[in-house]
Amino acid sequence: MNFFPGTAFQSKDTITAMQEKKLQELVAYVAAHSAFYKSMFADNGIDTSAIKTLADLGKLPVTQKEDLQRQNEDFLCVSKEKIIEYSSTSGTLGSPVMIALTENDLERLAYNEYSSFVCADGSASDIYQLMLTLDRQFMAGMAYYSGLRKLGAGIIRLGPGVPSLQWETIMRLKPTAIVAVPSFIIKLIQFAKEHGIDINSSSVKKAICIGENIRNTDFSLSIIGKKITEAWDIQLYSTYASTEMQTAFTECGHSRGGHMQPELIILEMLDENNNPVTAGEPGEVTITTLGVEGMPLLRYKTGDICIYHDDVCGCGRTTTRLSPVVGRRKQMIKFKGTTLYPPALFDMLNELEDVKDYVAEVYSNEMGTDEVLIYIVPSSLTEECDRTIRANLQARLRVSPHVKYISLEEIQKMQMPEAGRKVVKFIDRRGR
Ligand SMILES: [Zn+2]
Repeated sequence: MNFFPGTAFQSKDTITAMQEKKLQELVAYVAAHSAFYKSMFADNGIDTSAIKTLADLGKLPVTQKEDLQRQNEDFLCVSKEKIIEYSSTSGTLGSPVMIALTENDLERLAYNEYSSFVCADGSASDIYQLMLTLDRQFMAGMAYYSGLRKLGAGIIRLGPGVPSLQWETIMRLKPTAIVAVPSFIIKLIQFAKEHGIDINSSSVKKAICIGENIRNTDFSLSIIGKKITEAWDIQLYSTYASTEMQTAFTECGHSRGGHMQPELIILEMLDENNNPVTAGEPGEVTITTLGVEGMPLLRYKTGDICIYHDDVCGCGRTTTRLSPVVGRRKQMIKFKGTTLYPPALFDMLNELEDVKDYVAEVYSNEMGTDEVLIYIVPSSLTEECDRTIRANLQARLRVSPHVKYISLEEIQKMQMPEAGRKVVKFIDRRGR
């Protein structure tokens, strides 16, 4: 398999020509090996030889997550003997989806993450402490590990949680970087404060932030990003990826969005009617995988709403950059005349001093419209605290959600269901 690590610095025309060649190869490959795409092409009367340019992609139907759920095995392009890894999506929406990887796909995944770490100013002289799950079919953990192997950096596989052990290990092995969920970095900072650890004299100088936004869509730091950097003088790098695309979008040191890796993926940003949106407008991240052998995807709609930018970055990369995820298409809440995505709701709740922790739940009322119920652990169970919280919610949302106060134990039970890999902050009971 041929990868060119410098691709992202080439001219847009060179990149387009390279992508179009790979696209033609991909279309021929899935037409020959994928049961799903074979029947999709047949059902829609598609002449695959007519798909030559990136613009020609528009002639193909999109692939939805539901397709991948319902016909999971039909996406497989290889016999079972060639499959090495069975990864799965976290299943936050419905049943988990299996993504099978061949040896070549694992090599591609390692290259993807190697190239991402390079983009995030990583080198062989760095030591990374991985504060995330490496098992439970979690693709990202494996990807970080193999990418760092390729980079030649030091790796400390500590796993998620346990701030005391994280700090003890930081002090002993002196990692220069951490890979962690931003809300966990906050917990690390809190632990350090409570135990007299001087975090700014530690060896850690940068953090690769996964799973949660550290920036607003204009790239300024979000509340959580600010909370981290105000306490801890480290450089934050945001990264966005999903199991299905087997590819990451990672920020460089200029902090202007996650860079696309053009040798690994074709990116389209589409509206509800599958028409392209323009730079600066929210659209659904729609991807076509390049170089994937096991389960390649054509025009796959990820469900993630982002904003793209295509001006040349300060780092010299010419590739498209993606904003933090504005929200999941399916999680959009139509709330008493306003439109809201959970991340915006979380940002607001994170800002409220009197809210110690929370879970937001959305359900349909008898009228078929959305209702929001927020479970909150308040700083105190007083009338004054209740009044402050309600007034703040009303002021910022312009409408009042339902509020239910619960204990820390209760919220922890809600946030960590059995076999879960991620902390649950949003529960969707709309049944659609
Ligand atoms: Zn850049």
